[in-house]
Amino acid sequence: MPGPIYAAFVHRRFVVIDEDLCVGCAFCVDLCPLRNVLDMNDKGDKAFVKNPYYCAGCFKCIERCPSRAIRSASLTGLDDSA
Ligand code: SF4
Ligand code: SF4
Repeated sequence: MPGPIYAAFVHRRFVVIDEDLCVGCAFCVDLCPLRNVLDMNDKGDKAFVKNPYYCAGCFKCIERCPSRAIRSASLTGLDDSA
């Protein structure tokens, strides 16, 4: 599997999480194939994007988030196209 730098370079996509919508289920953290992209905050009640540039742009987290708190972004600005 290509490394995170390769993934970010090729896809030039990552994700952002709206913490107001996040219900803290941690599905996204558990399903992300790259273990250091997403994490839960110290209280464990909200997910956050720990290393956006490591994201492979697979968007599995967007598809599986039950509260639609995750959306795609580009490296040059926010983008809701996915
Ligand atoms: S899957 Fe969605 S609701 Fe669940 S922790 Fe991730 S962002 Fe929050
Ligand atoms: S788009 Fe894929 S690689 Fe990026 S954070 Fe979501 S599940 Fe992980």
